[in-house]
Amino acid sequence: MATQEETFKKMVAHCKEYGFVFPSSEIYDGLGAVYDYGQNGVELKNNIKRYWWDSMTLLHENIVGIDASIFMHPTVWKASGHVDAFNDPLIDNKDSKKRYRADVLIEDQIAKYDEKIDKEVEKARKRFGDSFNEELFKQTNERVHEHIVKRDALHDRYKAAMNANDLNELKQIILDEEIVCPISGTRNWTDVRQFNLMFQTEMGSTADGAMKIYLRPETAQGIFVNYLNVQKTGRMKIPFGIAQIGKAFRNEIVARQFVFRMREFEQMEMQFFIKPGTEMEWFKHWKEFRLKWHKALGLGDEKYRYHDHEKLAHYANAATDIEFLMPFGFKEVEGIHSRTNFDLSQHAQYSGKKIEYFDPELNESYTPYVIETSIGVDRMFLSIMCAAYKEEQLEGGDTRVVLNLPPVLAPVKACVMPLVKKDGLPEKAREVMDMLKFDFKTNYDEKDSIGKRYRRQDAIGTPFCITIDHDTLNDNCVTVRYRDTMAQDRININDLHALIAKAVDMKQLYKKIME
Ligand code: ATP
Repeated sequence: MATQEETFKKMVAHCKEYGFVFPSSEIYDGLGAVYDYGQNGVELKNNIKRYWWDSMTLLHENIVGIDASIFMHPTVWKASGHVDAFNDPLIDNKDSKKRYRADVLIEDQIAKYDEKIDKEVEKARKRFGDSFNEELFKQTNERVHEHIVKRDALHDRYKAAMNANDLNELKQIILDEEIVCPISGTRNWTDVRQFNLMFQTEMGSTADGAMKIYLRPETAQGIFVNYLNVQKTGRMKIPFGIAQIGKAFRNEIVARQFVFRMREFEQMEMQFFIKPGTEMEWFKHWKEFRLKWHKALGLGDEKYRYHDHEKLAHYANAATDIEFLMPFGFKEVEGIHSRTNFDLSQHAQYSGKKIEYFDPELNESYTPYVIETSIGVDRMFLSIMCAAYKEEQLEGGDTRVVLNLPPVLAPVKACVMPLVKKDGLPEKAREVMDMLKFDFKTNYDEKDSIGKRYRRQDAIGTPFCITIDHDTLNDNCVTVRYRDTMAQDRININDLHALIAKAVDMKQLYKKIME
Protein backbone atom coordinates (compact mmCIF):
# COMPACT_ATOMS: atom_id res chain seq x y z
CA MET A 1 0.00 0.00 0.00
CA ALA A 2 1.25 3.45 -0.93
CA THR A 3 1.65 5.91 1.95
CA GLN A 4 -0.46 9.07 2.05
CA GLU A 5 2.59 11.05 1.03
CA GLU A 6 3.25 8.87 -2.01
CA THR A 7 -0.38 9.07 -3.06
CA PHE A 8 -0.28 12.85 -2.68
CA LYS A 9 2.81 13.04 -4.90
CA LYS A 10 1.12 10.88 -7.49
CA MET A 11 -1.99 13.05 -7.36
CA VAL A 12 0.15 16.17 -7.98
CA ALA A 13 1.84 14.45 -10.95
CA HIS A 14 -1.58 13.37 -12.20
CA CYS A 15 -2.80 16.99 -12.06
CA LYS A 16 -0.04 17.93 -14.47
CA GLU A 17 -0.29 14.91 -16.75
CA TYR A 18 -4.02 15.34 -17.27
CA GLY A 19 -4.17 19.11 -17.74
CA PHE A 20 -5.43 20.18 -14.32
CA VAL A 21 -2.53 22.20 -12.88
CA PHE A 22 0.84 23.25 -14.34
CA PRO A 23 3.68 25.08 -12.58
CA SER A 24 3.67 28.70 -13.72
CA SER A 25 6.18 29.60 -16.47
CA GLU A 26 7.31 26.01 -16.48
CA ILE A 27 9.62 26.37 -19.50
CA TYR A 28 11.64 28.75 -17.31
CA ASP A 29 11.65 26.21 -14.45
CA GLY A 30 8.58 27.63 -12.75
CA LEU A 31 7.99 30.35 -10.17
CA GLY A 32 7.75 29.59 -6.45
CA ALA A 33 4.22 28.76 -5.32
CA VAL A 34 2.56 30.09 -8.47
CA TYR A 35 0.51 27.71 -10.61
CA ASP A 36 -1.56 27.73 -13.79
CA TYR A 37 -4.76 25.79 -14.27
CA GLY A 38 -4.97 23.70 -17.43
CA GLN A 39 -7.88 22.72 -19.65
CA ASN A 40 -9.48 20.38 -17.12
CA GLY A 41 -8.43 22.30 -14.02
CA VAL A 42 -10.12 25.47 -15.18
CA GLU A 43 -13.41 23.63 -15.80
CA LEU A 44 -13.32 22.07 -12.32
CA LYS A 45 -12.42 25.42 -10.79
CA ASN A 46 -15.22 27.20 -12.67
CA ASN A 47 -17.69 24.59 -11.45
CA ILE A 48 -16.56 25.10 -7.84
CA LYS A 49 -16.99 28.82 -8.27
CA ARG A 50 -20.43 28.43 -9.76
CA TYR A 51 -21.50 26.11 -6.94
CA TRP A 52 -20.39 28.73 -4.41
CA TRP A 53 -21.68 31.79 -6.29
CA ASP A 54 -25.15 30.38 -6.89
CA SER A 55 -25.41 29.03 -3.34
CA MET A 56 -24.92 32.63 -2.20
CA THR A 57 -26.75 34.70 -4.79
CA LEU A 58 -29.53 32.33 -5.92
CA LEU A 59 -30.40 30.77 -2.58
CA HIS A 60 -30.39 34.10 -0.75
CA GLU A 61 -32.46 36.95 -2.07
CA ASN A 62 -30.57 39.27 0.29
CA ILE A 63 -27.10 38.43 -1.06
CA VAL A 64 -25.75 40.18 -4.16
CA GLY A 65 -22.37 40.02 -5.86
CA ILE A 66 -19.71 42.49 -6.93
CA ASP A 67 -16.41 42.35 -8.78
CA ALA A 68 -13.99 44.91 -7.35
CA SER A 69 -10.52 45.75 -8.65
CA ILE A 70 -7.33 44.17 -7.39
CA PHE A 71 -5.68 47.58 -7.09
CA MET A 72 -7.13 49.78 -4.39
CA HIS A 73 -6.25 53.12 -2.84
CA PRO A 74 -3.28 52.49 -0.53
CA THR A 75 -5.08 54.03 2.45
CA VAL A 76 -7.49 51.07 2.32
CA TRP A 77 -4.71 48.87 3.68
CA LYS A 78 -3.69 51.37 6.31
CA ALA A 79 -7.32 51.53 7.50
CA SER A 80 -7.82 47.77 7.40
CA GLY A 81 -4.73 47.22 9.54
CA HIS A 82 -2.86 45.23 6.93
CA VAL A 83 0.06 47.66 6.63
CA ASP A 84 0.77 47.40 10.34
CA ALA A 85 -0.50 43.98 11.30
CA PHE A 86 -0.59 41.59 8.34
CA ASN A 87 2.59 39.90 9.43
CA ASP A 88 3.81 36.40 10.04
CA PRO A 89 6.55 35.61 12.57
CA LEU A 90 9.51 34.29 10.61
CA ILE A 91 12.47 32.23 11.83
CA ASP A 92 15.46 30.76 9.98
CA ASN A 93 17.53 27.73 10.74
CA LYS A 94 21.16 28.80 10.42
CA ASP A 95 22.40 25.38 9.34
CA SER A 96 19.87 24.43 6.67
CA LYS A 97 19.20 28.09 5.72
CA LYS A 98 15.53 27.11 5.60
CA ARG A 99 12.86 29.58 6.62
CA TYR A 100 9.86 28.73 8.78
CA ARG A 101 6.87 30.35 10.38
CA ALA A 102 7.51 30.33 14.12
CA ASP A 103 3.79 29.94 14.87
CA VAL A 104 3.52 26.92 12.58
CA LEU A 105 6.51 25.21 14.22
CA ILE A 106 4.85 25.59 17.62
CA GLU A 107 1.41 24.54 16.39
CA ASP A 108 2.96 21.42 14.90
CA GLN A 109 4.50 20.69 18.28
CA ILE A 110 1.07 21.02 19.96
CA ALA A 111 -0.34 18.69 17.31
CA LYS A 112 2.35 16.14 18.21
CA TYR A 113 1.16 16.11 21.84
CA ASP A 114 -2.41 15.73 20.59
CA GLU A 115 -1.40 12.77 18.46
CA LYS A 116 0.31 11.08 21.39
CA ILE A 117 -2.75 11.58 23.58
CA ASP A 118 -5.12 10.31 20.87
CA LYS A 119 -2.99 7.24 20.30
CA GLU A 120 -3.04 6.28 23.99
CA VAL A 121 -6.78 6.90 24.17
CA GLU A 122 -7.44 4.71 21.13
CA LYS A 123 -5.28 1.93 22.51
CA ALA A 124 -7.16 2.01 25.80
CA ARG A 125 -10.52 2.16 24.06
CA LYS A 126 -9.71 -1.08 22.28
CA ARG A 127 -8.50 -2.69 25.52
CA PHE A 128 -11.46 -1.70 27.67
CA GLY A 129 -14.22 -2.02 25.07
CA ASP A 130 -17.70 -0.77 25.99
CA SER A 131 -16.82 0.08 29.57
CA PHE A 132 -14.25 2.68 28.46
CA ASN A 133 -14.59 6.10 30.03
CA GLU A 134 -12.38 8.51 28.10
CA GLU A 135 -12.50 11.38 30.58
CA LEU A 136 -11.65 9.16 33.54
CA PHE A 137 -8.82 7.55 31.58
CA LYS A 138 -7.33 10.94 30.70
CA GLN A 139 -7.38 11.99 34.34
CA THR A 140 -6.02 8.80 35.83
CA ASN A 141 -3.51 7.41 33.34
CA GLU A 142 -0.21 8.87 34.40
CA ARG A 143 1.45 9.03 31.00
CA VAL A 144 -1.54 10.56 29.24
CA HIS A 145 -2.09 13.00 32.06
CA GLU A 146 1.51 14.14 31.77
CA HIS A 147 1.12 14.75 28.02
CA ILE A 148 -2.06 16.72 28.60
CA VAL A 149 -0.47 18.95 31.23
CA LYS A 150 2.50 19.66 28.95
CA ARG A 151 0.29 20.26 25.96
CA ASP A 152 -1.99 22.67 27.82
CA ALA A 153 0.91 24.59 29.29
CA LEU A 154 2.49 24.96 25.85
CA HIS A 155 -0.80 25.99 24.36
CA ASP A 156 -1.36 28.71 26.98
CA ARG A 157 2.16 30.02 26.63
CA TYR A 158 1.88 30.11 22.84
CA LYS A 159 -1.48 31.86 22.90
CA ALA A 160 -0.20 34.51 25.30
CA ALA A 161 2.91 35.11 23.18
CA MET A 162 0.89 35.45 19.96
CA ASN A 163 -1.65 37.77 21.50
CA ALA A 164 1.09 39.96 22.95
CA ASN A 165 3.10 39.80 19.68
CA ASP A 166 6.05 38.74 21.81
CA LEU A 167 8.63 37.53 19.29
CA ASN A 168 11.31 36.77 21.88
CA GLU A 169 8.91 34.54 23.76
CA LEU A 170 8.06 32.66 20.53
CA LYS A 171 11.74 31.94 20.03
CA GLN A 172 12.11 30.89 23.67
CA ILE A 173 9.20 28.45 23.27
CA ILE A 174 10.90 26.91 20.24
CA LEU A 175 14.12 26.52 22.22
CA ASP A 176 12.42 25.21 25.38
CA GLU A 177 10.40 22.68 23.42
CA GLU A 178 13.61 21.59 21.70
CA ILE A 179 12.00 21.96 18.27
CA VAL A 180 14.49 21.04 15.56
CA CYS A 181 14.63 21.97 11.88
CA PRO A 182 13.25 19.01 9.91
CA ILE A 183 16.03 19.43 7.32
CA SER A 184 19.20 19.96 9.39
CA GLY A 185 17.91 18.40 12.59
CA THR A 186 19.53 21.23 14.60
CA ARG A 187 18.29 23.87 17.02
CA ASN A 188 20.47 26.62 15.61
CA TRP A 189 17.73 29.24 15.15
CA THR A 190 17.84 32.96 14.34
CA ASP A 191 15.66 35.43 16.23
CA VAL A 192 12.00 35.65 15.24
CA ARG A 193 11.15 38.61 13.00
CA GLN A 194 7.90 40.02 11.65
CA PHE A 195 7.37 39.82 7.91
CA ASN A 196 4.60 41.70 6.06
CA LEU A 197 2.86 39.51 3.52
CA MET A 198 1.63 42.21 1.14
CA PHE A 199 3.18 42.60 -2.32
CA GLN A 200 3.97 46.17 -3.30
CA THR A 201 4.15 47.82 -6.66
CA GLU A 202 4.01 51.30 -8.09
CA MET A 203 1.26 53.00 -10.03
CA GLY A 204 2.01 55.80 -12.49
CA SER A 205 5.39 56.80 -13.87
CA THR A 206 8.12 57.91 -11.51
CA ALA A 207 8.22 61.36 -13.12
CA ASP A 208 4.59 61.91 -12.10
CA GLY A 209 5.37 60.91 -8.56
CA ALA A 210 4.45 57.23 -8.55
CA MET A 211 2.16 55.97 -5.84
CA LYS A 212 3.10 52.91 -3.82
CA ILE A 213 0.22 50.47 -3.98
CA TYR A 214 -0.42 46.90 -2.87
CA LEU A 215 -1.78 43.82 -4.53
CA ARG A 216 -4.80 42.99 -2.39
CA PRO A 217 -4.10 40.26 0.19
CA GLU A 218 -7.84 39.55 0.56
CA THR A 219 -10.88 40.39 -1.52
CA ALA A 220 -12.93 41.49 1.51
CA GLN A 221 -11.81 45.14 1.47
CA GLY A 222 -13.27 45.57 -2.03
CA ILE A 223 -16.62 44.73 -0.46
CA PHE A 224 -16.25 47.06 2.53
CA VAL A 225 -15.34 50.08 0.45
CA ASN A 226 -18.38 49.38 -1.76
CA TYR A 227 -20.77 48.83 1.14
CA LEU A 228 -22.50 52.19 0.71
CA ASN A 229 -22.65 51.90 -3.11
CA VAL A 230 -24.35 48.50 -2.99
CA GLN A 231 -26.59 49.24 -0.03
CA LYS A 232 -27.90 52.42 -1.64
CA THR A 233 -28.18 51.36 -5.29
CA GLY A 234 -29.53 47.92 -4.40
CA ARG A 235 -31.79 49.36 -1.66
CA MET A 236 -30.53 46.59 0.57
CA LYS A 237 -32.00 46.12 4.01
CA ILE A 238 -30.03 44.66 6.89
CA PRO A 239 -29.34 41.78 7.20
CA PHE A 240 -27.81 41.48 3.73
CA GLY A 241 -24.67 40.11 2.14
CA ILE A 242 -22.20 40.98 -0.62
CA ALA A 243 -20.36 38.14 -2.33
CA GLN A 244 -17.21 38.30 -4.42
CA ILE A 245 -14.82 35.93 -6.15
CA GLY A 246 -11.36 37.17 -7.07
CA LYS A 247 -7.61 36.94 -6.93
CA ALA A 248 -5.63 37.70 -3.78
CA PHE A 249 -1.86 37.86 -3.27
CA ARG A 250 0.30 37.02 -0.27
CA ASN A 251 4.06 36.83 -0.14
CA GLU A 252 3.90 33.64 1.93
CA ILE A 253 7.06 32.78 3.85
CA VAL A 254 6.80 29.07 3.36
CA ALA A 255 4.92 28.14 0.26
CA ARG A 256 4.41 24.41 -0.04
CA GLN A 257 1.96 21.59 -0.46
CA PHE A 258 1.09 22.38 -4.03
CA VAL A 259 -1.90 24.71 -4.42
CA PHE A 260 -2.58 24.70 -0.67
CA ARG A 261 -0.41 27.74 -0.04
CA MET A 262 0.20 29.91 -3.08
CA ARG A 263 1.46 33.44 -3.53
CA GLU A 264 -1.33 34.22 -6.01
CA PHE A 265 -4.63 32.54 -5.26
CA GLU A 266 -8.36 33.01 -5.56
CA GLN A 267 -10.87 33.65 -2.80
CA MET A 268 -14.64 33.42 -2.57
CA GLU A 269 -15.74 35.78 0.17
CA MET A 270 -19.09 36.90 1.45
CA GLN A 271 -19.55 39.70 3.95
CA PHE A 272 -22.89 39.60 5.74
CA PHE A 273 -23.97 42.94 7.26
CA ILE A 274 -26.01 42.68 10.43
CA LYS A 275 -27.38 44.59 13.38
CA PRO A 276 -24.87 44.98 16.25
CA GLY A 277 -25.59 42.47 18.99
CA THR A 278 -26.87 39.78 16.61
CA GLU A 279 -23.40 38.62 15.59
CA MET A 280 -23.21 35.42 17.61
CA GLU A 281 -26.52 34.21 16.23
CA TRP A 282 -25.41 34.93 12.62
CA PHE A 283 -21.94 33.54 13.23
CA LYS A 284 -23.55 30.25 14.26
CA HIS A 285 -25.88 30.37 11.28
CA TRP A 286 -23.09 30.84 8.73
CA LYS A 287 -20.86 28.24 10.39
CA GLU A 288 -23.61 25.70 9.96
CA PHE A 289 -24.62 26.78 6.47
CA ARG A 290 -21.08 26.66 5.17
CA LEU A 291 -20.43 23.19 6.57
CA LYS A 292 -23.61 21.95 4.90
CA TRP A 293 -22.38 23.40 1.61
CA HIS A 294 -19.19 21.37 1.91
CA LYS A 295 -20.88 18.18 3.03
CA ALA A 296 -23.48 18.29 0.24
CA LEU A 297 -20.70 17.41 -2.21
CA GLY A 298 -20.57 13.93 -0.71
CA LEU A 299 -16.79 13.70 -0.22
CA GLY A 300 -17.37 12.15 3.25
CA ASP A 301 -18.77 13.91 6.33
CA GLU A 302 -15.95 12.56 8.51
CA LYS A 303 -13.42 14.54 6.49
CA TYR A 304 -14.58 17.89 7.94
CA ARG A 305 -14.19 19.51 11.32
CA TYR A 306 -14.37 22.94 12.88
CA HIS A 307 -11.30 24.49 14.42
CA ASP A 308 -11.72 27.54 16.65
CA HIS A 309 -8.96 30.11 16.37
CA GLU A 310 -6.39 30.44 19.16
CA LYS A 311 -5.35 33.90 18.15
CA LEU A 312 -8.03 36.17 16.81
CA ALA A 313 -7.09 38.43 13.93
CA HIS A 314 -7.01 42.14 14.74
CA TYR A 315 -10.54 42.58 13.41
CA ALA A 316 -12.40 39.56 14.83
CA ASN A 317 -14.34 38.70 17.98
CA ALA A 318 -14.99 35.08 17.00
CA ALA A 319 -13.46 32.89 14.32
CA THR A 320 -13.67 29.29 13.19
CA ASP A 321 -12.05 27.38 10.38
CA ILE A 322 -13.64 24.58 8.45
CA GLU A 323 -10.87 22.03 8.06
CA PHE A 324 -10.66 19.21 5.58
CA LEU A 325 -8.72 15.99 6.00
CA MET A 326 -5.96 16.29 3.41
CA PRO A 327 -3.24 13.62 3.06
CA PHE A 328 -1.09 15.87 5.27
CA GLY A 329 -3.68 16.20 8.05
CA PHE A 330 -6.74 18.33 8.82
CA LYS A 331 -6.15 21.71 7.16
CA GLU A 332 -8.07 24.97 6.87
CA VAL A 333 -10.12 25.36 3.72
CA GLU A 334 -12.45 28.11 4.87
CA GLY A 335 -12.61 30.72 7.61
CA ILE A 336 -15.76 32.11 9.20
CA HIS A 337 -15.12 35.31 11.10
CA SER A 338 -17.16 37.69 13.16
CA ARG A 339 -15.45 40.94 12.13
CA THR A 340 -17.52 43.29 14.32
CA ASN A 341 -17.81 46.79 12.82
CA PHE A 342 -14.04 47.05 12.66
CA ASP A 343 -13.62 47.47 8.90
CA LEU A 344 -16.50 49.85 8.25
CA SER A 345 -15.56 52.03 11.24
CA GLN A 346 -11.94 52.16 10.15
CA HIS A 347 -12.90 53.18 6.62
CA ALA A 348 -15.26 55.81 8.00
CA GLN A 349 -12.45 57.19 10.10
CA TYR A 350 -9.75 57.16 7.40
CA SER A 351 -11.99 58.42 4.57
CA GLY A 352 -13.93 60.92 6.60
CA LYS A 353 -17.18 59.57 5.09
CA LYS A 354 -20.15 58.49 7.14
CA ILE A 355 -20.57 54.75 6.62
CA GLU A 356 -23.71 53.71 8.43
CA TYR A 357 -27.10 52.12 8.00
CA PHE A 358 -30.36 53.78 8.85
CA ASP A 359 -32.57 51.14 10.39
CA PRO A 360 -36.18 52.12 9.65
CA GLU A 361 -37.52 49.71 12.28
CA LEU A 362 -35.37 51.14 15.08
CA ASN A 363 -35.49 54.62 13.58
CA GLU A 364 -31.76 55.00 14.21
CA SER A 365 -28.42 54.75 12.41
CA TYR A 366 -25.60 52.40 13.26
CA THR A 367 -22.41 50.95 11.80
CA PRO A 368 -23.32 47.39 10.80
CA TYR A 369 -21.49 44.38 12.19
CA VAL A 370 -20.15 41.81 9.77
CA ILE A 371 -19.92 38.04 9.55
CA GLU A 372 -17.49 36.91 6.89
CA THR A 373 -17.23 33.57 5.14
CA SER A 374 -13.95 33.24 3.27
CA ILE A 375 -12.88 30.23 1.27
CA GLY A 376 -9.94 29.66 -1.05
CA VAL A 377 -10.90 28.29 -4.46
CA ASP A 378 -7.53 26.59 -4.79
CA ARG A 379 -7.71 24.88 -1.40
CA MET A 380 -11.21 23.74 -2.22
CA PHE A 381 -9.88 22.41 -5.53
CA LEU A 382 -7.10 20.58 -3.68
CA SER A 383 -9.45 19.03 -1.12
CA ILE A 384 -11.69 17.75 -3.90
CA MET A 385 -8.76 16.32 -5.85
CA CYS A 386 -7.35 14.62 -2.74
CA ALA A 387 -10.71 13.03 -1.97
CA ALA A 388 -11.37 12.05 -5.58
CA TYR A 389 -8.03 10.56 -6.63
CA LYS A 390 -8.10 6.74 -6.44
CA GLU A 391 -5.88 3.97 -7.68
CA GLU A 392 -8.06 0.91 -8.02
CA GLN A 393 -7.14 -2.74 -8.37
CA LEU A 394 -9.46 -4.37 -10.86
CA GLU A 395 -10.32 -8.00 -11.44
CA GLY A 396 -7.75 -9.76 -13.59
CA GLY A 397 -4.83 -7.84 -12.06
CA ASP A 398 -5.52 -4.65 -13.97
CA THR A 399 -5.38 -1.25 -12.28
CA ARG A 400 -6.96 2.08 -13.08
CA VAL A 401 -6.63 5.66 -11.86
CA VAL A 402 -10.01 7.28 -11.45
CA LEU A 403 -11.18 10.63 -10.17
CA ASN A 404 -14.41 10.07 -8.25
CA LEU A 405 -15.36 13.70 -8.62
CA PRO A 406 -18.85 14.79 -7.67
CA PRO A 407 -20.52 14.74 -11.14
CA VAL A 408 -21.71 18.34 -10.69
CA LEU A 409 -18.09 19.45 -10.52
CA ALA A 410 -16.55 17.11 -13.11
CA PRO A 411 -14.74 19.11 -15.85
CA VAL A 412 -16.21 16.96 -18.60
CA LYS A 413 -19.65 15.46 -18.13
CA ALA A 414 -19.72 12.98 -21.00
CA CYS A 415 -17.48 11.58 -23.71
CA VAL A 416 -18.97 10.36 -26.96
CA MET A 417 -17.10 7.52 -28.69
CA PRO A 418 -17.80 5.80 -32.00
CA LEU A 419 -16.75 2.15 -31.68
CA VAL A 420 -14.87 2.37 -34.99
CA LYS A 421 -13.85 5.25 -37.22
CA LYS A 422 -16.00 4.14 -40.18
CA ASP A 423 -19.40 2.77 -41.26
CA GLY A 424 -21.18 6.04 -40.40
CA LEU A 425 -20.47 5.68 -36.67
CA PRO A 426 -18.44 8.93 -36.34
CA GLU A 427 -21.29 10.83 -38.04
CA LYS A 428 -23.83 9.35 -35.64
CA ALA A 429 -21.52 10.15 -32.71
CA ARG A 430 -21.31 13.78 -33.87
CA GLU A 431 -25.10 13.92 -33.91
CA VAL A 432 -25.21 12.76 -30.28
CA MET A 433 -22.49 15.21 -29.38
CA ASP A 434 -24.40 18.09 -31.01
CA MET A 435 -27.46 17.15 -29.00
CA LEU A 436 -25.56 17.33 -25.69
CA LYS A 437 -22.96 20.05 -26.16
CA PHE A 438 -25.14 23.08 -25.51
CA ASP A 439 -25.83 21.97 -21.96
CA PHE A 440 -22.88 19.80 -20.96
CA LYS A 441 -19.14 19.98 -21.51
CA THR A 442 -18.79 16.97 -23.83
CA ASN A 443 -15.66 15.35 -25.27
CA TYR A 444 -15.36 13.36 -28.47
CA ASP A 445 -12.83 10.52 -28.76
CA GLU A 446 -12.38 8.04 -31.59
CA LYS A 447 -8.73 7.08 -31.05
CA ASP A 448 -7.46 3.76 -29.58
CA SER A 449 -9.42 0.87 -28.11
CA ILE A 450 -12.60 1.54 -26.13
CA GLY A 451 -10.80 0.31 -22.98
CA LYS A 452 -8.05 2.92 -23.38
CA ARG A 453 -10.60 5.62 -24.06
CA TYR A 454 -12.49 4.69 -20.87
CA ARG A 455 -9.26 4.97 -18.87
CA ARG A 456 -8.53 8.42 -20.27
CA GLN A 457 -11.96 9.60 -19.16
CA ASP A 458 -11.65 7.90 -15.75
CA ALA A 459 -8.43 9.83 -15.22
CA ILE A 460 -10.19 13.18 -15.63
CA GLY A 461 -13.33 12.10 -13.78
CA THR A 462 -15.87 12.04 -16.63
CA PRO A 463 -19.03 10.42 -15.20
CA PHE A 464 -20.48 9.11 -18.51
CA CYS A 465 -18.92 7.44 -21.55
CA ILE A 466 -21.29 6.96 -24.47
CA THR A 467 -20.40 4.41 -27.14
CA ILE A 468 -22.00 4.38 -30.57
CA ASP A 469 -21.84 0.95 -32.27
CA HIS A 470 -23.31 -0.62 -35.39
CA ASP A 471 -26.58 -1.49 -33.61
CA THR A 472 -27.04 2.19 -32.77
CA LEU A 473 -27.78 2.89 -36.44
CA ASN A 474 -30.76 0.49 -36.26
CA ASP A 475 -32.10 0.75 -32.70
CA ASN A 476 -31.09 4.35 -31.82
CA CYS A 477 -29.56 2.99 -28.59
CA VAL A 478 -26.05 3.57 -27.18
CA THR A 479 -23.96 1.94 -24.46
CA VAL A 480 -23.55 4.17 -21.44
CA ARG A 481 -20.66 3.24 -19.16
CA TYR A 482 -20.58 4.70 -15.65
CA ARG A 483 -17.27 5.94 -14.23
CA ASP A 484 -17.55 4.74 -10.62
CA THR A 485 -19.11 1.30 -11.05
CA MET A 486 -17.86 0.67 -14.59
CA ALA A 487 -21.30 -0.86 -15.19
CA GLN A 488 -22.84 -0.49 -18.63
CA ASP A 489 -26.41 0.17 -19.76
CA ARG A 490 -28.08 0.20 -23.13
CA ILE A 491 -29.97 3.49 -23.40
CA ASN A 492 -32.05 5.19 -26.08
CA ILE A 493 -30.38 8.32 -27.45
CA ASN A 494 -33.50 10.32 -26.64
CA ASP A 495 -33.06 9.54 -22.93
CA LEU A 496 -29.39 10.57 -22.73
CA HIS A 497 -29.94 14.23 -22.04
CA ALA A 498 -32.22 13.59 -19.08
CA LEU A 499 -29.85 10.98 -17.64
CA ILE A 500 -26.88 13.36 -17.63
CA ALA A 501 -28.94 16.38 -16.57
CA LYS A 502 -30.16 14.57 -13.48
CA ALA A 503 -26.66 13.56 -12.39
CA VAL A 504 -24.99 16.93 -12.88
CA ASP A 505 -27.76 19.20 -11.66
CA MET A 506 -26.60 21.50 -8.85
CA LYS A 507 -30.21 21.85 -7.71
CA GLN A 508 -30.01 18.56 -5.85
CA LEU A 509 -27.11 19.91 -3.79
CA TYR A 510 -28.88 23.18 -3.10
CA LYS A 511 -31.92 21.30 -1.87
CA LYS A 512 -29.71 19.33 0.52
CA ILE A 513 -28.18 22.51 1.87
CA MET A 514 -31.55 24.13 2.43
CA GLU A 515 -33.10 21.08 4.14
P1 ATP B 1 -3.48 30.25 6.75
O1 ATP B 1 -3.59 30.29 8.26
O2 ATP B 1 -3.50 28.87 6.19
O3 ATP B 1 -2.37 31.10 6.22
P2 ATP B 1 -5.42 32.28 6.79
O4 ATP B 1 -6.12 31.99 8.07
O5 ATP B 1 -4.42 33.37 6.72
O6 ATP B 1 -4.79 30.93 6.20
P3 ATP B 1 -7.62 33.66 5.66
O7 ATP B 1 -6.96 34.98 5.72
O8 ATP B 1 -8.70 33.35 6.63
O9 ATP B 1 -6.50 32.50 5.68
O10 ATP B 1 -8.11 33.43 4.17
C1 ATP B 1 -9.31 32.75 3.85
C2 ATP B 1 -9.09 31.58 2.95
O11 ATP B 1 -8.26 31.92 1.84
C3 ATP B 1 -8.36 30.42 3.62
O12 ATP B 1 -9.26 29.62 4.33
C4 ATP B 1 -7.77 29.69 2.43
O13 ATP B 1 -8.72 28.81 1.86
C5 ATP B 1 -7.49 30.79 1.45
N1 ATP B 1 -6.06 31.13 1.48
C6 ATP B 1 -5.42 31.95 2.33
N2 ATP B 1 -4.12 32.02 2.03
C7 ATP B 1 -3.92 31.22 0.96
C8 ATP B 1 -2.78 30.88 0.16
N3 ATP B 1 -1.59 31.39 0.41
N4 ATP B 1 -2.95 30.01 -0.87
C9 ATP B 1 -4.16 29.49 -1.15
N5 ATP B 1 -5.26 29.78 -0.44
C10 ATP B 1 -5.15 30.64 0.59
